[in-house]
Amino acid sequence: MDCIFCKIVKGEIPSKKAYEDEKILAFYDINPQAPIHILVIPKVHIASVDEINEDNSEIISHIFKTIPKIAKEHAVNDKGYRVISNCGDDACQSVKHLHFHILGGRQLSESMA
Ligand code: 5GP
Ligand code: ZN
Repeated sequence: MDCIFCKIVKGEIPSKKAYEDEKILAFYDINPQAPIHILVIPKVHIASVDEINEDNSEIISHIFKTIPKIAKEHAVNDKGYRVISNCGDDACQSVKHLHFHILGGRQLSESMA
């Protein structure tokens, strides 16, 4: 499968890591939209939020338990940060491997879109 985030997990494409454990990887977005812009992904290939189900939802819980730790390490937990996952074409999901954007380090827009 030709998935760039699977290649990042395998080390075939370099990335600047922010966090890693046996199940998930977090790395800095190549085109940051805020001073802190980190992507958190499961190491297994899940295409999008729309593919989360009973069999794979444990990793989602793990991702959301880890996001506050990553936020704290990057000192955005006090002032706040935004967690986004674009799902499908209308949402402009460009990489079809589930990822959660952590955005922070400045006042973000009030609008979501
Ligand atoms: P999406 O548009 O699918 O929600 O987000 C995909 C994100 O992945 C974009 O913010 C884009 O900048 C980032 N991205 C795409 N390719 C790479 C890459 O090779 N390395 C890194 N670090 N980020 C990438
Ligand atoms: Zn993948």
